[in-house]
Amino acid sequence: MARIFEKPTILLSKCIEHEPCRYDKTMIKSEVIRRLMPYVKYITVCPESDIGLPIPRQALRIIVAGEDSKLVFSKSGEDITDKMKEFSHEFLEDLSSQEIHGAILKSRSPSCGIKDVKTYKSCGKSCALSKKTSGLFAESFIEKYPDTPIEDEGRLTNYNIREHFFTRIFTLADFKSIKDSKSINELIKFQSKNKYLLMAHSPGNLKILGKLTANNSNLDITEIFDAYECYLNKALANRPSPMRNVNMLLHLFGYFSKDITKDEKVFFLDNLESYADRKVPFSVPLAIIHAWVIRFENEYLLNQTIFEAFPSELIEVTDSGKGL
Ligand code: SF4
Repeated sequence: MARIFEKPTILLSKCIEHEPCRYDKTMIKSEVIRRLMPYVKYITVCPESDIGLPIPRQALRIIVAGEDSKLVFSKSGEDITDKMKEFSHEFLEDLSSQEIHGAILKSRSPSCGIKDVKTYKSCGKSCALSKKTSGLFAESFIEKYPDTPIEDEGRLTNYNIREHFFTRIFTLADFKSIKDSKSINELIKFQSKNKYLLMAHSPGNLKILGKLTANNSNLDITEIFDAYECYLNKALANRPSPMRNVNMLLHLFGYFSKDITKDEKVFFLDNLESYADRKVPFSVPLAIIHAWVIRFENEYLLNQTIFEAFPSELIEVTDSGKGL
């Protein structure tokens, strides 16, 4: 049976597929953002137009002077750092009344860029410095929501980054849906169905999360949920490595090794080796195991989120080819 997903709430730069609010009155097209639309709730923001800048407007840039970064108009040099910081602080304070499961911000923008924003020594004609930084709004977001998944639309064209981001936002939205129940049984169910997903991300944190659900330290239920959320974020922040995926797949293989033929075993192990050697994608050995889960009607494994970590309609094998 297909899994039913909670809709994650995602903060999005408004100029991506929503409004032509960029400095040159254009809008950014993004296939990923369009495909996500039916599956998430977007909250859009354009920090530059929200502080009252016109559309179109003069471009902005970040000027670095010693330890200080300033947001200024590229030509006139007018400094709007304080205005942007004040807006970011107020906007993010208001936002904290809602659950946010992730953010997708516009790459390279001096306001929204998360890590690859050019810096300059001065306004006017000057070459970009080698140092890259974050945009002012993005920096405030990361400070306020250090554990929340954040990406830019450019990085999401990379297959591995996209799969990791989708897995995180849909798992966190699922967790938030049981968080308010404060029910230990719901938490145990959550831990159980995510066991192999978490094993692929972080076996160490999987153990800690298991201990929390067993509650050997007699914490009260609110403390358990708070600690669980903290370690869940830590676990999911790790992208699964081929080594961890192989380890997790071997655990799953253990369920069937006595029920399958010798040829099936060889076929699976050959594919696992090809995956470890990066000759086939992770989905190949995982699909073989999934077929056995269905064939042998293993109820416990049928429920494992590793087989559908996010809506299958979002699976897209295209890749920017730029590496990670
Ligand atoms: S990058 Fe951010 S500030 Fe710039 S136009 Fe887009 S939403 Fe507005």
